[in-house]
Amino acid sequence: MAPIPKEADYLVLGIGSGGIASARRAAKYGAKVIAVESGRMGGTCVNVGCVPKKVTYNAAALADSFRDAKAYGFGGYEMPSFDWPMFKQKRDAYVKRLNGIYENNLNRDEIEHMKGRAKFVAKDEVEVALEGGGTQRIKAKHILIAVGGRPHMPDIPGKELCIDSDGFFELEQLPKSIATVGAGYIGVEMSGMLHSLGSKVDFFIRGETLLRHHDPMIQEVVTKEYERIGVNVHKTSKIVSVEDIGNGLKRVNYEHTDTGKKDSVDVETVLFAIGRVPEVEDLHVEELGLTLNKQKHIVVDEYQNTSWPNVYAIGDVCDRGFELTPVAIAAGRRLSDRLFGGKEGRHLEYENIPAVVFAHPEIGACGLTEPDARKKYGDENIKIYKSQFTAMYYAMMEPENKGPTAYKIICAGKEERVVGLHIIGANSAEILQGFGVAMKMGATKADFDNCVAIHPVSAEELVTMT
Ligand code: FAD
Ligand code: NDP
Repeated sequence: MAPIPKEADYLVLGIGSGGIASARRAAKYGAKVIAVESGRMGGTCVNVGCVPKKVTYNAAALADSFRDAKAYGFGGYEMPSFDWPMFKQKRDAYVKRLNGIYENNLNRDEIEHMKGRAKFVAKDEVEVALEGGGTQRIKAKHILIAVGGRPHMPDIPGKELCIDSDGFFELEQLPKSIATVGAGYIGVEMSGMLHSLGSKVDFFIRGETLLRHHDPMIQEVVTKEYERIGVNVHKTSKIVSVEDIGNGLKRVNYEHTDTGKKDSVDVETVLFAIGRVPEVEDLHVEELGLTLNKQKHIVVDEYQNTSWPNVYAIGDVCDRGFELTPVAIAAGRRLSDRLFGGKEGRHLEYENIPAVVFAHPEIGACGLTEPDARKKYGDENIKIYKSQFTAMYYAMMEPENKGPTAYKIICAGKEERVVGLHIIGANSAEILQGFGVAMKMGATKADFDNCVAIHPVSAEELVTMT
């Protein structure tokens, strides 16, 4: 006789950023919720993403400050040594504490949760291979797929000698030398952090610039800055193989894609950060006919509905194009508001979502890039305001040690509504949030200008640009 399935109002697959937010919101409305997680509580963000990344970024920022402090008159010290093993141990302990907080929150909200790998056996039924052995079937009125993604690795000889971003957080020592690959968020963030902490970084990118999906101004400024601070950026390059050459070293063989010239560099560690893929295979949804796109993201409409009735997807696994924690959380909460809170029509608008890159220096972006704005509104309807300057922080530094600050405001139409904002410079991540609110409210350039400047800060430039 087949085992009797458990029943729930809401079954949530994946207890990461989006899953837990949606599960807790649904429970608040009184829904009977069951949540399933095969890994550590909290998903990518807490365990191998935003949280341990930002802690590492903070360490890198401190290293930068120690270097910069001399220009302000501090002295009598050599660059302090950095105890990576001690730092890693504390970072791991912090993450573990957060895992516990996640678990407590589920218990407090009376959400039944189980450890195991979930797969669909029918469009409205899931089987969980339980961690302790055995299986459990669950039927639910509504099922949320929030299983996120994983790093993509290239299929090249020697790939098993390389690490991905998950492996970065397992490093027991700071590598003396590292080859990083991938011009996106993770490649840029990790190359910058490692460089600041003292690794020799060879950074391999396919194109001419970093962050090719960002506004051209950002691409240009950040690429030049990485070169200026001493990251060895290999442009138009492709890694073809990696070999173990002994003594803890790997040989990275690469070619210049423009000239065909071959070359190699020897490093301790090779890190690939070339994008992430959705974690869908184990769910067996493709076999059962759920609609996926070419990259295997689950196709959803603006309400996070999949092609199956009463089955939804949010976060990195769906095809909305924003792989960010607050996006997964916002979509998950709104979905529960709609399904269980009687808030018909509630959904996330995937527009004017502020995002930052913890690069050196920080980058913030909200809305359209200049090329996208020109395409959408036409050249004649676009007005660009730009400012590039040296922040006062660098007043005490020699010219060769001064970093850049560059801001761009993109306005559309006669009323000059701000449709794009792109900033690079110290503290950009903290600066952007408030401007994100203004853009969401439909702010125009005149609204920006009507706000009295704060002085002396870099951000005052955003309300005084002509
Ligand atoms: P996840 O958080 O990945 O959760 C999915 C969960 O589902 C996982 O715990 C997984 O174990 C579980 N799961 C998978 N398959 C199954 C299954 N079959 N059965 C049961 N459970 C399953 N975003 C930001 O906003 N800011 C940042 O600074 C930032 N930094 C990042 C740095 C790095 C290095 C990385 C990799 C990502 C970063 N992100 C950042 C992105 C952010 O982490 C993700 O967008 C976010 O975690 C996605 O949430 P999610 O709920 O979709 O999936
Ligand atoms: P991204 O999609 O940001 O960037 C990956 C880049 O790698 C691509 O843009 C591409 O750049 C390059 N690439 C792709 N394939 C190859 C290849 N075969 N060889 C060499 N380069 C290749 O992915 P990430 O892995 O950096 O990060 C995943 C997502 O996680 C991000 O998109 C972001 O949403 C999220 N994230 C957010 C952070 C934040 O909010 N601060 C921080 C970290 C991650 P090109 O075409 O120029 O070669």
